Amino acid sequence: MASPTATETPAARPLDPMALLNVSSAAVVGASPGKHYSTSVIANLLQFGLPAEKVMPINPKYDEIDGLRCHASLADLPGRPSLVVSLVGVERVDAVLDDAIEAQVPAMLVIADGYSEMGAEGTARQARLADKAARHGVTLLGPNSLGYVAPSRGVAAWVGGRVPERLTAGRVSLAFQSSGMLNLVLNQVAHRRIGLAAAVSVGNEAVMDLADFIRAFADDAETDVLGIVLESTTRPRALAQALLHANQAGKTVVVLSIGKSERGMKNVSSHAGRMATSGRVWSALFRQVGALVVDDLTDFMETVALTAGLSAEARGGGLALATISGGDCGLLSDMAENLDLELSDVTPETQAILDEQLSRTNILANPLDVRNTRTSAPKVFWASLAALAADPNIATVALRLNLALAPTKQHEEMYTRVAEHIRANGAECVFTSRVTETSSERWFDLFAELGTPFLTSYDGALKAFANLQHHRRDAHYVNEDGAFTALPEVVAEMPETQPLSWQQTMDWVGRTGMSFTRTVQAMSVAEAVEATATMTFPLVAKGIVPGVAHKSDLKLVELNIADVEDLEARVTALFERMAGLAVTDEFAVEIQEMAGGGAEFFLGMHSDPILGRIMSFGLGGIFLELLHDVAYAVPPVSAAQATALLQTLRGWDVLQGARGQEPRDVAALADVIATVSAAVADPDSTVSSFDFNPVLVMPAGSGVVAVDAYVEGTK
Ligand code: ADP
Ligand code: MG
Repeated sequence: MASPTATETPAARPLDPMALLNVSSAAVVGASPGKHYSTSVIANLLQFGLPAEKVMPINPKYDEIDGLRCHASLADLPGRPSLVVSLVGVERVDAVLDDAIEAQVPAMLVIADGYSEMGAEGTARQARLADKAARHGVTLLGPNSLGYVAPSRGVAAWVGGRVPERLTAGRVSLAFQSSGMLNLVLNQVAHRRIGLAAAVSVGNEAVMDLADFIRAFADDAETDVLGIVLESTTRPRALAQALLHANQAGKTVVVLSIGKSERGMKNVSSHAGRMATSGRVWSALFRQVGALVVDDLTDFMETVALTAGLSAEARGGGLALATISGGDCGLLSDMAENLDLELSDVTPETQAILDEQLSRTNILANPLDVRNTRTSAPKVFWASLAALAADPNIATVALRLNLALAPTKQHEEMYTRVAEHIRANGAECVFTSRVTETSSERWFDLFAELGTPFLTSYDGALKAFANLQHHRRDAHYVNEDGAFTALPEVVAEMPETQPLSWQQTMDWVGRTGMSFTRTVQAMSVAEAVEATATMTFPLVAKGIVPGVAHKSDLKLVELNIADVEDLEARVTALFERMAGLAVTDEFAVEIQEMAGGGAEFFLGMHSDPILGRIMSFGLGGIFLELLHDVAYAVPPVSAAQATALLQTLRGWDVLQGARGQEPRDVAALADVIATVSAAVADPDSTVSSFDFNPVLVMPAGSGVVAVDAYVEGTK
């Protein structure tokens, strides 16, 4: 047993997720003959690289398990294992951890359930386990994990059945919160010959969570593509920063985000700016960290397969499709349009070559129908493919050719030649099928050898291409600095909130930098009249009733006040109406200058139970009520990001001056969004939600001005 050294005192050992992956020997505590977990993990460890003497079952009841020498306890082992796999039940895990700490084992996988998924008691038990492991520098995976595999590193501590034999080493790393899905995807990637660097089922994330693995994979030289299945997080800021870090490291992160439809609805009300559902909020976050979000498992598989097979430059770059059927060209064109997938235009030079080769003028170059020229006129076939591949607008040529049930020698030669030909002419090559069909695994072997992605259906393929294109197009949403100071470090219970008073609201508005129409509070008609001395008619008068978010509903907004006489009458009426409401006896009104000629916009913030302060904005009226035309953003956002987000709105055209509207001051609006977002991102802010509704967006050059603010806070 190695003796402790000064650098291994608990405080001095930061936890490294890679301790789990860089394993040269493993003790399997609680191994038992014929038990599923035990048999699986021992067989997997042996199959993926550990020599027999480095896989050490621990169980005092046996001398031998599955042909391996069995030891009575961790303390009895001849050397220090680099990993403990704990298969024991929940009551015995603590003792195993104690032994692992005693034996100075750096990494431990805990399979047992009965922790945070089992209510308060389980949560407390998990917290104790996590605390002890972390204090002693044990990189603990789980509990409630099925384990992990790292084919290129020769380790497969996986208890969920035999890891498929065909699993190959490669440059994709997976981290899943759903172990069942990871089991499925392991089979899929093995079947499809997608090379894996690592795949981790994070389980209950007691010590190592998704964010840790994302960060580790971002820094891992062997990983190029990350595939993530995410349900939620307890560490939003670390998660965002890890995702951003991966993006900035030049890696593509494919995220399947699940379970978002009902969650986080607590704060939703009909109030403008608080219409966020968690799903849309998550999407906003993913966009700002440069993650590529997919819709379902098929989309995940196809997108990972495509991404892993393309160079970083080709991902999302110019795309040409080629098929051997005219019908396909029509179908592919329609599908591409539906998916907003851009098929690159070819240059006039390329067009001329294709016209000549395929003997037609102005032939549709993309998708290109090469007909049966491969057999009937091979020169035409090869010259056409060469022209497409050589076109400067095209980075990738995706082809559909005939697929038999299994590839023959001729098929192999032909596909090899096509791939080489396209590459020699300067493009990357992808093969597709029209519809998911039964095809021999030998096809996948062939495509793996050729290094060409093979996408199993047109819909999956085009969606994957669209995903990459949109991902590249969305790069300007990414938060370059990545401070994410508004994201909670740890998800906490939502505090009690209350509406701010008029004065607090106005003070806060001042601090945000929002330009607000000139507004004065008046406690009486006389005070209101006095206030007008420094104001320009027409004016607006509004009744101030604490906590009322919709003053108009209570007839507490008087617009277009022409002069002092008009003001006296209308303010008197306001006071009378407020008295009738009988909610308070401290009445006040606010007198504002009337701002004319603006388009009504709203800018709001609400507190999401997971991701904290989230900004939302869009045009008012039907855009908000009927179309839910709202953009979400995690603050802070820059003016450039705000502009990009504004462009995602259907109301963007209105702001631009569609249909006789005047073009609006979008630049000023973007500036205001950025300025307010910085105030929102201030970690010391106690404001939990607000609405500026409306912010009036004036004609270009004339700025924006808010005329109504409703703010809630925790103090
Ligand atoms: P609430 O939203 O509580 O009903 P607002 O203060 O937003 O009350 O006023 C209702 C509407 O009146 C606004 O949406 C806007 O159209 C108009 N309005 C209010 N104040 C002004 C102002 N100072 N200048 C121009 N229009 C205003
Ligand atoms: Mg309003």
